[in-house]
Amino acid sequence: MSKLQNKVAVITGANSGIGLATAKLYLKEGAKVVLSGRRKDALDAVSKELTGDFITVVADVSKAEDNAHLINETVNAYGKIDILFLNAGIAPPTPTTEVTEAHYNEIFDINVKGPILATKEALPHINDGGSILFTTSIVSQKGFDGLSVYSASKGAVRSYARVLTSEVKSRGIRVNSIAPGPIDTPIYGKMGLPNDVIEEMGKGFAAQVPLGRFGSSEEIANAALFLASDEASYVNGIEIEIDGGLSQI
Ligand code: NAD
Repeated sequence: MSKLQNKVAVITGANSGIGLATAKLYLKEGAKVVLSGRRKDALDAVSKELTGDFITVVADVSKAEDNAHLINETVNAYGKIDILFLNAGIAPPTPTTEVTEAHYNEIFDINVKGPILATKEALPHINDGGSILFTTSIVSQKGFDGLSVYSASKGAVRSYARVLTSEVKSRGIRVNSIAPGPIDTPIYGKMGLPNDVIEEMGKGFAAQVPLGRFGSSEEIANAALFLASDEASYVNGIEIEIDGGLSQI
């Protein structure tokens, strides 16, 4: 029996990296999946790789109306929601002395406001016993230079998830977060850094990981499957680090 048979899952940031790997795995496990992303062309391109019952919805998570649109489209297509995976995020680095209001707003609008507003829109449509997942990061547990605002944004989501866990308890909705360590996804190419700097940064991260390497999107997707499935029926309110041990040493 497939682990997510007939469950309806909404995934933000689903056209790339962790979100895409999770969408593929959820489809394989029998879920109906709503893949959301900011760019239509990217969603159209990945749609060609997918099989199963899915729709795509273009939505910029930093915009309130787009979060409402995403949930409306989901309800129109599938009625209810069982799994809400709020995964979209950006990680542009900036030294603390050069942080601007625009840098702060961009990161917090996408990484914090987005998941909070999507949750609000989705809650009336999430089945009792459903599952909400956030992609946080181990950066809120360890300090990486240049990632101050990004780290603060992920810490904010972790705190938000704790309160949400309590607020939805009467409905049996489980709320969990996944904190990836360094994962090989396109996010590094979007940081606005030269390739050689990214390569050096990558080597530095990998050297610090007890397992000595980057993780893959599929390794995060496996955790997203476990947490969304009945196998995790007594797992609630946690943040699980999938990081090769980096945050633990
Ligand atoms: P990615 O760049 O491949 O995916 C990010 C996704 O978010 C993309 O689909 C992108 O289109 C989407 N997105 C960005 N801004 C958006 C917006 N305004 N509206 C809608 N969608 C938007 O990178 P990824 O590594 O797969 O990132 C997924 C999540 O994992 C992010 O929240 C990121 O912070 C987190 N994370 C990644 C790592 C890592 O090493 N890759 C580590 C820790 C946490």
